[in-house]
Amino acid sequence: MTSKKEIGWNFDNSYARLPNTFFSTVKPNPVDAPKLVILNDSLAGTLGFDADALKTAEGIEILAGNHVPEGSAPLAQAYAGHQFGHFNMLGDGRAMLVGEHITPEDNRVDIQLKGSGRTPFSRGGDGRAALGPMLREYIISEAMHALRIPTTRSLAVVATGESIIRESMLHGAILTRVADSHIRVGTFQYAANWRPVEELRILADYTIQRHYPEIEGDENPYLSLLQEVIKRQAALISKWQLAGFIHGVMNTDNMTISGETIDYGPCAFMDSYDLATVFSSIDREGRYAYGNQPYIGGWNLARFAETLLPLLHDEQEEAVKIAQDAISGYNKIYQTHWLAGMRAKLGIFNEEKDDEVLFTDLLKIMQKNKADYTNTFRSLTLDKIEEAPIFDDAEFAKWHEQWQDRLSRQNVPKESVSKLMRNSNPSVIPRNHRVEEALEAAAEKGDYSVLKKLLEVLSQPYAYSKDQEEYCKLPESSSIPYQTFCGT
Ligand code: AMP
Ligand code: MG
Repeated sequence: MTSKKEIGWNFDNSYARLPNTFFSTVKPNPVDAPKLVILNDSLAGTLGFDADALKTAEGIEILAGNHVPEGSAPLAQAYAGHQFGHFNMLGDGRAMLVGEHITPEDNRVDIQLKGSGRTPFSRGGDGRAALGPMLREYIISEAMHALRIPTTRSLAVVATGESIIRESMLHGAILTRVADSHIRVGTFQYAANWRPVEELRILADYTIQRHYPEIEGDENPYLSLLQEVIKRQAALISKWQLAGFIHGVMNTDNMTISGETIDYGPCAFMDSYDLATVFSSIDREGRYAYGNQPYIGGWNLARFAETLLPLLHDEQEEAVKIAQDAISGYNKIYQTHWLAGMRAKLGIFNEEKDDEVLFTDLLKIMQKNKADYTNTFRSLTLDKIEEAPIFDDAEFAKWHEQWQDRLSRQNVPKESVSKLMRNSNPSVIPRNHRVEEALEAAAEKGDYSVLKKLLEVLSQPYAYSKDQEEYCKLPESSSIPYQTFCGT
């Protein structure tokens, strides 16, 4: 029998103590022949789990949702969301929260199984997930973590041994996702739209206690909550922009209150710099295009602010004013983070008022030359102007001179500039062709060696090591634009 001691579960399920309208308790939906295809040993260690115990038949039964570990109280969370601008009731239709695990460092994390079967929120769906997309979430979320971008993590993927029906028959799989929490803007939208204000207040108080305990005693803690979430999301989205990450489906149900990136469906990293970059096959109007992400972040936060109105002030007019004031601060906070990040990418330690122009000038030249975003910064970091049209552009030469002048004005040794740039510009990102190659080998041929090597390289994005060089290369040019699909 699997006991709490063997694996190291240490559950305390606070979400399950909320009013029961916030979730549905669910029973496991056993799968036929679960097989562990990947386990994150290092994350298991950090969480205080015995990785070997997770790899035993009993451990795998738990990761497959076939067996409920001691202390777990499986549930599916209720939430709503604006999907591409349209408001819907959603909820965990193919996921279950196994419970909240308290780590040896006393951190509380959600352990969630994604692809674990039908729940009362499944609507027409089968509650299942395919192996390819779950491995994709594993790769990209772990790469994001290594890039120091707040994110949910991936502990394991188990193949279910069952087929699922999509456009073709696919292997089913379950991802074990670890998050600070799964409370979303959509969770608040659910409460604000369909539950009495007392329940909304309970949710807000719970969220404050769990994620922002330092504001509990503030004069208006709900305003502080709004301000803190604005700060976290502004910081998060600036990091996405700086890394060239395109989330692809920034619906309000995919925006966390903790400020973690969540739900790696159609996301991908941009190659050629272009504000209009969209990879998702369903994002036909470019709502979630790269250049639109900061704006959509603000839009989603405005939806969050609306849910808090009854808590912000007794008089609606006053509440609206308070919310608008807070929301109007978002752009500035975002821009400050982005500028700081760009300074670091270009080795700049101090501030000058024309810095923004210097940055946008470079980006314009990159856009004009369809320059690879990551590799342009990599070349600048290595001071190795490699073969690429951008480096032959006279405008670039002029820009380069201005940048060098800017660097010389700050009086910082060259080595420090170089160190800052290496630490701010990843040399490897999960390039689309590399991710596809790894997924194809794994999901279609059962060969996980390509994926494991990729994960290893992605775990040190700032290392600039020799053996990573292969992974910096661009794919052979293709006439077919890269497209991603929702992980359903
Ligand atoms: P996502 O696109 O993964 O953020 O999911 C949006 C909503 O659709 C959530 O409520 C999911 O739980 C639900 N959903 C996605 N895929 C499935 C599925 N295969 N079965 C049931 N519900 C699903
Ligand atoms: Mg989602």
